[in-house]
Amino acid sequence: MLLEARGITKAFGSFKAVDDASVTLEQGDILGLIGPNGAGKSTFFNCLTGDLKTSSGRVLFEGRDITDFTPELRAELGLARTFQVPQTFEGMTVLENVMIGAFLRSSHRAEAETKARAVLERVGMSRLADSPARSLGTPGRKRLEIARALATEPKVLLLDEAMAGLNAHEVKRAIDLVRDIHRSGITLVIVEHIMEVIMSLASRVMVFHQGKEIARGSPLEVTSNPAVIAAYLGTRAAKAAAGHTPIELMGGPIT
Ligand code: ADP
Ligand code: MG
Repeated sequence: MLLEARGITKAFGSFKAVDDASVTLEQGDILGLIGPNGAGKSTFFNCLTGDLKTSSGRVLFEGRDITDFTPELRAELGLARTFQVPQTFEGMTVLENVMIGAFLRSSHRAEAETKARAVLERVGMSRLADSPARSLGTPGRKRLEIARALATEPKVLLLDEAMAGLNAHEVKRAIDLVRDIHRSGITLVIVEHIMEVIMSLASRVMVFHQGKEIARGSPLEVTSNPAVIAAYLGTRAAKAAAGHTPIELMGGPIT
């Protein structure tokens, strides 16, 4: 097992944003985490990456307890992430942003630069290498986040709404990129509200609602699960919407 979370709870005061959530991730998985806004997806995700301290529960990476490890230590072990709101270093170039990731494993500037250029090539951003990061729009920033994470040479990559704010064409390109990353041997956890992305990419899906896991299974299983549809819409609305496919209910397919 690559990554395991056991009974994670994260409380903010008396409010439990995540309540006793567990998950296991095997090499080669693309695990999708879905759920309505405020369900606790990002909070759970941040407990996996170490950006938030868990209130209780354990996180294991390749069998090792990393619950008290900083995000940097987890990155060294091979756990990389992107942020829902891109954390771009505005004053730096695109290349320099990616080099920050590469410096995790390369102390020499020239080596880090070579690695960063190779990653930019891979994500299709080579011609933007010397552009200031601040000149990028949302799609560029989202892709740059993925590039910086890839430059750390991860075993597991966690993407938090990496496709939010993209148009249909850009989403398709991003799906292709994630497929390419997966083919290269990287295991993925994707938090995504775009159902089509989950349907096309995820091998398994876990559904959150009010901090708790309410369903897990294949993308088709969870999207046809009445409890999941009810969580997205509220029970009454789900009844009113009977006759629509689950994907339509959850935001519609990408056309
Ligand atoms: P999701 O990513 O599924 O939309 P989040 O994990 O961001 O949900 O948030 C889950 C719940 O926890 C929300 O109700 C949110 O307002 C709350 N929450 C998230 N972060 C904090 C925080 N730092 N302090 C207090 N409440 C928070
Ligand atoms: Mg979120």
